[in-house]
Amino acid sequence: MHQVAQLITRDNEPKIVVLSALSGTTNTLVSIGDALAKGDKEKAKQIIDQLEGHYHAFILSLLLKDATRDKANKIISEHFEFLNIITRISFNEALNKDILAQGELMSTKLFSLYLEEQGIKHALIPALEFMSIDANDEPQVPVIRQKLMPVLDANKEVGLFITQGYICRNSKGEVDNLKRGGSDYTASLVAAAANCTVCEIWTDIDGMHNNDPRVVEKTVPVEQLSFEEAAELAYFGAKILHPTCIWPAQLEKVPVKLLNTMQPEAAGTVITQEAGSVGVKAIAAKDGIIAINIKSSRMLLAYGFLRKIFEVFEKYRTPIDMITTSEVAVSVTIDNDQFLATIIKELEPFGTVEVDKEQSIVSIVGNDIAQTQDILSKLFDALKPVPVRMVSYGGSKHNVSLLIPSGEKQHTLKLLNKGLFGLN
Ligand code: ASP
Ligand code: MG
Repeated sequence: MHQVAQLITRDNEPKIVVLSALSGTTNTLVSIGDALAKGDKEKAKQIIDQLEGHYHAFILSLLLKDATRDKANKIISEHFEFLNIITRISFNEALNKDILAQGELMSTKLFSLYLEEQGIKHALIPALEFMSIDANDEPQVPVIRQKLMPVLDANKEVGLFITQGYICRNSKGEVDNLKRGGSDYTASLVAAAANCTVCEIWTDIDGMHNNDPRVVEKTVPVEQLSFEEAAELAYFGAKILHPTCIWPAQLEKVPVKLLNTMQPEAAGTVITQEAGSVGVKAIAAKDGIIAINIKSSRMLLAYGFLRKIFEVFEKYRTPIDMITTSEVAVSVTIDNDQFLATIIKELEPFGTVEVDKEQSIVSIVGNDIAQTQDILSKLFDALKPVPVRMVSYGGSKHNVSLLIPSGEKQHTLKLLNKGLFGLN
């Protein structure tokens, strides 16, 4: 927070600062909800007390003056009082959402106190007044804009706004959220709604890397990506960005910058409308994929087969990520196994169904991959030792996707790092 305060006061440009919860807090709040859902009030109480201790210690290192420390301790005590009350009443999903909202509510209030202590003029604007999702749990930029603009106008002279990421109201007016990691999404929605000149996402890595730094030793930040490329990478596993957070910025053509809080001078990654350079830019991998193969002898010269299959997935609201077909069979992948058993049952009348679990999608993303001559040969050369289960290519100009057993992921990412980027 000390660092963030410096970052946001480096220039006098008006800005809206979207804060997430303190590291680890939302995970802890999830475990409080889990304990309560199981009826384990003892355990919930124990986790709450531990978290409260963490916050009171945090205040000591964040703030200097006794007066602001007192204010902060009082605010934090109120939030924990609320959590403690929840352990005593009957638990439900709406209350769980209230629990999950505490992290961002506390972080923004503490940060606001720190700014106050430093004499930095600002306005804390409650996200619950303008961030909303509709009956399908989707945020709508025009709706957010309509509620946000009056809030900004009311504080015109300030120019520095602090608000909560992640939390919002749903169509019933209850406290809800944009799903885990949703603060990026808030930032992008706010940037689109307020027509900002740029949406900066400050994390702890210097941009989107060309490969997964947790798996491969040598990776480099990618300078520039198009919105499509970035969306593809985020969706297929690049942890730095929330997968849904691209579309609002893209909608209003607001450039997105991925920057490193710990190394503010590093260039990071810029995401814009244009792709910039041609060729492969990055690789990402997504685990927990299930491949389903449906083989029908009747598919030969048949029409309507694919529709029937897709309808089953649609019925269970299970998105398909990858698809490949041959004349008699189709393979699809899903990452949500909630309805797997039922889906398989309903597919069985159409043919022989086979399921492979523990698969990973490796996605090779770039611009005009199809037009860039030797990419495919380099790719398959590098992949010689890997048992590739599916290949998807040609669906977009930005992407080649491979399905491999998860056990082969590390090996595959390393081979591609060398084969496509010449990095070891
Ligand atoms: N605090 C929320 C979470 O941990 C939102 C975020 O970090 O972006 O999921
Ligand atoms: Mg976070």
